[in-house]
Amino acid sequence: MAVDARAPYDTSNIFARILRGEIPCKKVYEDDFALAFHDINPQAPVHVLVIPKGEYVSMADFTAKAPDTLVTGFFRAVGKVAEELELVEGGYRILANAGTNSHQEVPHLHVHIFAGAPLGPMLASKIS
Ligand code: 5GP
Repeated sequence: MAVDARAPYDTSNIFARILRGEIPCKKVYEDDFALAFHDINPQAPVHVLVIPKGEYVSMADFTAKAPDTLVTGFFRAVGKVAEELELVEGGYRILANAGTNSHQEVPHLHVHIFAGAPLGPMLASKIS
């Protein structure tokens, strides 16, 4: 079910539990600001999630409330993951869902990185 991105942070969400080490993940990168791991239900040959270390529901929540060092560190981490997974040459797509229309499922900010094959159009068109 899609989450309300304006809701208060739920400390029991699955990514909070992964950050606390309560649930395993297939880690690909970690630093002081971010953790990156493989999506459990990949939608592309490479499908990695990058999450900030902090309690932020959405991109709006993160950019409004996170300290500058964390915002900078998080986005640098996204770039480093792409670099370290050698996705830059072939290309990749990043995506962050926020709120009901986007069908955000997990109420902890996460950036999806998709790669490994031609990814097709950016969106299934919703304009008739
Ligand atoms: P959203 O729709 O919120 O943007 O995407 C949530 C993503 O989290 C989905 O792609 C889903 O497959 C992934 N996901 C949900 N639960 C888990 C989990 O326990 N472990 C991992 N690695 N990914 C998860």
